[in-house]
Amino acid sequence: MSEGQEPALKVVDAFDLDDELRSILRPGEMVRDGANRRHRLPRYFYEVPDHRVATQVRLTPHFGLNEFILSDLKEAPRLQNFPKYIPCAVRLLAFYLEQFRIAAGGSVHIAVNGGYRSPAHKMSPNATPHLWGTAADIYKIGGSILKTRELIEKFNAIAEGLSDDIFVSPYDTAADHVHVDLGYITLVPREISEDRMEQPQESRPRFAFEERRRTDRRNG
Ligand SMILES: [Zn+2]
Repeated sequence: MSEGQEPALKVVDAFDLDDELRSILRPGEMVRDGANRRHRLPRYFYEVPDHRVATQVRLTPHFGLNEFILSDLKEAPRLQNFPKYIPCAVRLLAFYLEQFRIAAGGSVHIAVNGGYRSPAHKMSPNATPHLWGTAADIYKIGGSILKTRELIEKFNAIAEGLSDDIFVSPYDTAADHVHVDLGYITLVPREISEDRMEQPQESRPRFAFEERRRTDRRNG
């Protein structure tokens, strides 16, 4: 990496990770949501080696990778330290949040535990898009702390108005934040060669570095 360039993001197949990480991330396993529908957990993750990379990598002009991996003791102990892992679909979420930021007219702040949660996270009793890296709990927009019904419903409407891809939780179930998600999307980066969903994989390790396609979005 030349000086000043954003670090390349390493993409890993979670089947290739060690036993402990596989048991935490559970790639390819089926989990049920609150309505008893089954969803297959993601398999391809960005590996975030350290805090420096987490803060340097920007997914969009206004959203850094670090904002999606903020968690506390509710997360599995192994994932409270680097390297951390986050499903590749987080890139899509960041894109939508960037549009939301424009429509909402203020900076969008994701809560601790409000981005990616592993299946072992204490707030992951059922499948929720947070486990896919495609959901965000937002507690503050611009200078407004989202604690009133009026504010939450105002920003819910703005988020919903952006795209049919976006789901928001009604005020009744998310009374101190705005929850937006894109559903159970998994993303296979183009740099990856897919394999059958079996473990262990042949010819390990298999990983790829995602090219940072735009350098002009840094420091936005
Ligand atoms: Zn949420």
